[in-house]
Amino acid sequence: MEFDYIIVGGGSAGCVLAARLSEDPQVRVALLEAGGPNDGILNRVPTGAAVHIVNRNACNWAFSTTPQIGLGGRIGYQPRGRGLGGSSAINAMIYLRGQREDYDDWAADGATGWGWKDVLPYFLKAENNERGVSGWHGSGGPLNVADLRSPHPFAALFIEAGMQAGLPRNDDFAVETQEGVGYYQVTQKNGERWSVARAYLDPVRARPNLRIETAAFATRIAFEGARAVGVEFVQDGTRRTLRARREVLLSAGALQSPQLLMVSGIGPAPSLQGLGIPVVADLPVGLNLQDHLDIIINRRVDNTDLLGISPIGAYKLMRAIGQWRRERRGVLTSNFAEAGAFVRTLPELTRPDVQLHFVIGMVDNHNRTFHWGHGMSCHSCPMRPRSRGMVHLASSDARDAPLIDPGFLSASEDLETMVRGFKTVRRIFAQPAFAPFGGADASRELYFSDVRSDDEIRAAIRARADTIYHPVGTCRMGSDARSVVDPQLRVRGVERLRVVDASVMPRLVSGNTNAPVVMIAEKAADLIRSASTPAILQDSNAVRETVPA
Ligand SMILES: Cc1cc2nc3c(=O)[nH]c(=O)nc-3n(C[C@H](O)[C@H](O)[C@H](O)COP(=O)(O)OP(=O)(O)OC[C@H]3O[C@@H](n4cnc5c(N)ncnc54)[C@H](O)[C@@H]3O)c2cc1C
Repeated sequence: MEFDYIIVGGGSAGCVLAARLSEDPQVRVALLEAGGPNDGILNRVPTGAAVHIVNRNACNWAFSTTPQIGLGGRIGYQPRGRGLGGSSAINAMIYLRGQREDYDDWAADGATGWGWKDVLPYFLKAENNERGVSGWHGSGGPLNVADLRSPHPFAALFIEAGMQAGLPRNDDFAVETQEGVGYYQVTQKNGERWSVARAYLDPVRARPNLRIETAAFATRIAFEGARAVGVEFVQDGTRRTLRARREVLLSAGALQSPQLLMVSGIGPAPSLQGLGIPVVADLPVGLNLQDHLDIIINRRVDNTDLLGISPIGAYKLMRAIGQWRRERRGVLTSNFAEAGAFVRTLPELTRPDVQLHFVIGMVDNHNRTFHWGHGMSCHSCPMRPRSRGMVHLASSDARDAPLIDPGFLSASEDLETMVRGFKTVRRIFAQPAFAPFGGADASRELYFSDVRSDDEIRAAIRARADTIYHPVGTCRMGSDARSVVDPQLRVRGVERLRVVDASVMPRLVSGNTNAPVVMIAEKAADLIRSASTPAILQDSNAVRETVPA
């Protein structure tokens, strides 16, 4: 029961760590994942996520937020992936990196070594872009990145309308310039979801030095003094402990990594003491929570090619199932949000501040509220929100869901950015390309048909907005007292413990977060290896930087 590295959480980050660290046959690695193997058909059909996202199930923790003052006291929804692949097993598969300035801002704010030039090699290392290798894209990496196999005609209309609204066409949002409108690339392979578990874990499962335990819920990090020495977990109703010879690596995601740290005694001392938890290190764990708040304009459209509920829709779905089974093509390969745009909502801005996701169906309440008929929708979210929230403990038991307070709209600028994003969507819908499908007529919008003035838009946002699933920042990386981990991702004030997942992002990146998390884990694997191996044997950027010229 002793391993060199114990990784807690087999999500996007944990799968990368398990695969990379076990490349060395001398090193024994254990991966503990609370959920299951996630190897069912719905984990492979790209549209299967629509089933998983709606409620608590084997693949989804389905957390809730605390009542959000900025949203009129509403309780938000927080789906989070459970099982191997984590959130990459239920996400919308969009491949993005954010903007280069995001990473340069991290570095300037104390995350030394995480500027754009430092992280780009790890994006490239992770990637197998089917468009081929270039200065901007990698080839031969585990994470397959593809163009949609069967793009929907309405995604093309959205792109046309975006261009009519004055946006430049952009065929690749992951390169130098993010601004514009175009198709998203997706983490799929041959028409199937390419979760991080499929990408990184499946090819290496047979390694004798890698032990993967599913249904293994970690309840506490074990310490001897200030040194992490193992992980306690529950499996099949039995409490077990694994000991770590080198390090414990926490990859339970931005909501559960801080929770595990806190129940183990690492967090804000007064709140831990209030719950009777002995303090191992007094750190700002759980603070700095950031998320993308999203407002969706849904429009009814009398076109049964769009996703929807109707007899013809059901018939088309049946045919699509057959097509996917035969060819791995058709609408079941859709990631729903097929096209998008990155927009500067004020002329004086130097880079886009709002992201749009165009979806080939109506999406209400995270797909939990259905509407008869067919339609389309467009999400808009401010990419670099100023609002900050926190994750804290409901109890000292890791099995109780954490209290999640994203602090949505606690910064008033975010609401104003959202108003501009809302108007941008309407401006695009009003273009000639959409004229046959409603155009400037908002009367077919769900909920918003009477919304006109800025005040009405503000009220609509407070009444309807919710997450677009990118919580980060709760174990902030940095070099000062605001940070939980240092730029090597080591938890400050203790030994042999790192956090490697979305929690460490000092600030939310300008876009979807899966590829950035994979990048973080790729770089972390090099940092971990360089800490335990003589530098001369290493071949990584991280090490080259630490070797004096
Ligand atoms: C519905 C949805 C749609 C999204 N769409 C996109 C998208 O299209 N593109 C994109 O780039 N990003 C998207 N994201 C975000 C992206 O998938 C996540 O940011 C990323 O997967 C987070 O990786 P992580 O490793 O930090 O956490 P996760 O991948 O969530 O992994 C955490 C893992 O830890 C496990 N765990 C938690 N607690 C314990 C414990 N106590 N013991 C053992 N195991 C534990 C969990 O079960 C989980 O498997 C989406 C997310 C969601 C939820």
